[in-house]
Amino acid sequence: SMEVNRNRLAADIDLTENAVAVLKKRYLKKNERGEAIEEPIDMFLRVAGNIAEGEFRFNEGEEAKALYEESRERFLQIMLSRKFMPNSPTLMNAGRELQQLSACFVLPVEDSIDGIYDTLKHQAIIHKSGGGTGFGFSRLRPKNDLVQSTMGVSSGPVSFMAIYDASTDKIKQGGTRRGANMGILRVDHPDVEEFIECKRENDQINNFNISVAITDEFMEAVEADRDFELKNPRDGEVIKTVRAKDLFRKIVEGAWLNGEPGVVFIDKINGDNPTPQFPIESTNPCSEAHLPPYDSCNLGSINLEKFYREETGDVDWDDLRETIHTAIRFLDNVIEQNNYPLPEIDKMSRGNRRIGLGVMGFADLLIKLGITYDSNEGLAFAEKVMKFVDDEAWEESRNLAEERGVMPNFEGSRHEMRGDRVRNATVTTIAPTGTISMIAGCSGGIEPLFAVAFMRRQADMEMPDVNPEFVKIAKERGFYSEDLMKKVAEHGSVRDVEEVPADLRSVWVTSHDISSEWHVKMQAAFQKYTSMGISKTINLPNDASVEDVEAAYMQAFATNCKGIAVYRDGSRDAQVLSTGKTS
Ligand code: UDP
Repeated sequence: SMEVNRNRLAADIDLTENAVAVLKKRYLKKNERGEAIEEPIDMFLRVAGNIAEGEFRFNEGEEAKALYEESRERFLQIMLSRKFMPNSPTLMNAGRELQQLSACFVLPVEDSIDGIYDTLKHQAIIHKSGGGTGFGFSRLRPKNDLVQSTMGVSSGPVSFMAIYDASTDKIKQGGTRRGANMGILRVDHPDVEEFIECKRENDQINNFNISVAITDEFMEAVEADRDFELKNPRDGEVIKTVRAKDLFRKIVEGAWLNGEPGVVFIDKINGDNPTPQFPIESTNPCSEAHLPPYDSCNLGSINLEKFYREETGDVDWDDLRETIHTAIRFLDNVIEQNNYPLPEIDKMSRGNRRIGLGVMGFADLLIKLGITYDSNEGLAFAEKVMKFVDDEAWEESRNLAEERGVMPNFEGSRHEMRGDRVRNATVTTIAPTGTISMIAGCSGGIEPLFAVAFMRRQADMEMPDVNPEFVKIAKERGFYSEDLMKKVAEHGSVRDVEEVPADLRSVWVTSHDISSEWHVKMQAAFQKYTSMGISKTINLPNDASVEDVEAAYMQAFATNCKGIAVYRDGSRDAQVLSTGKTS
């Protein structure tokens, strides 16, 4: 019976204590008293069933029922085995009243009071439903520009961003997620200098990440040390001329100081925009999704570590292929099943059908394979695995186009120009996987390990929290001792801990061990085979110079990254986790 089946499946799920705690706190259905009335198994059954119902939109009768049953089973299996997780809103909301399944949205900001305040309201609606929002403020007239109807003057993009920020504070995202925003301003906007400095004090505009949209023309001016014009977006009037190098320096100094602003290379993004009929001016909050106004993106990630096979010492490529195909069908169904927060978003999302399959557990997999993250072998493997994911994802999108039709906005798309009949404008995106990697119990996205071990305060005691796989290996190879684990936790890294065998020291690397140059190299390797963007933090040591940050930004541009965000260790007051080394 159903109940027996449920209990059998429940007994097989293998979630960490942390994963269960996160699910209980924020993902499982609760009663009025705030008690969870679902177990993790019920959540996975709810999500698999609801997303499989998408099959009824394209088929009828017995055929539809059979497809539904098959999809439900496949969707369930890839989640229960922790090979795949959809983004948090899908886990939280599928099969429930809200039914809002997307992680990210971009809204337009028109140069009018009506436009600005319509979007303010739409932002609130989206945050309430659990989504993050991105905005391009570049169409707003600059500060002190004339307002015709009142003969007054405009207060400029930064002041309106502050209003969106204040509103975010008031909306608790359905009680589950904090409102997150991205604010973007073009480098040729007259207010760009004010924008670059608007987060200098650490307590300002806290609900926003900010990025400068850098143009190719600007980068050429920086490289040639030329002047650069800042223009009123309303009429193109030149308001100010600056030395490109100085402006670039301001951006880099901000990033060195506290990580803000990041940059996006907007011409590269639009150069690869599969739907050029809808130009892109912003990204989502963590900047991996490049979306035109009113578009959304449904994300999901494959846990690569789960495809390692001890018997062969290699990846099970057949299993990976099958999982990718199932995941793409899952995400295309999500577009159908989604209850979009606005009619404009409904239309754009169904028309473009942007989905973003990404990977997580990449660092865990490298360790199992014995490959060093910051090595040429590491880069080659990154390209190999991401090319495989991307190729197979497109293959499935072509299959779906045959079965269900090409995307409605196919006409005018870059896919049409190439004669490539696909069902989705994009198929791959690397998300941060902040929570879903914790649920899956793997390393986040394509990031290296944060630490092999770190000191955790528990019940007023400082205890070393050591990666369980590392503990296992240390015991197997006979170098385990509590003192050594403490030493590792205090160092954060094992690279210089001599008691650890050399082969392990080269493979068990952490973000802090890796130079910014190698971080950027890894981002560029993944970007080659990703249809949207990459969420990646470029870590720098606390004593890194402004020139080091500048070099990272230049390298990202030169190697065709779509943007870059750096984090200099210790440069923000509150760090969520800290290794012994830095705290
Ligand atoms: N996001 C958000 N609020 C949050 C976390 C994430 O709005 O508290 C959005 C944001 O657009 C981000 C995207 O969700 O880029 C994906 O984030 P992540 O992969 O960390 O989410 P997960 O699915 O792991 O919860």
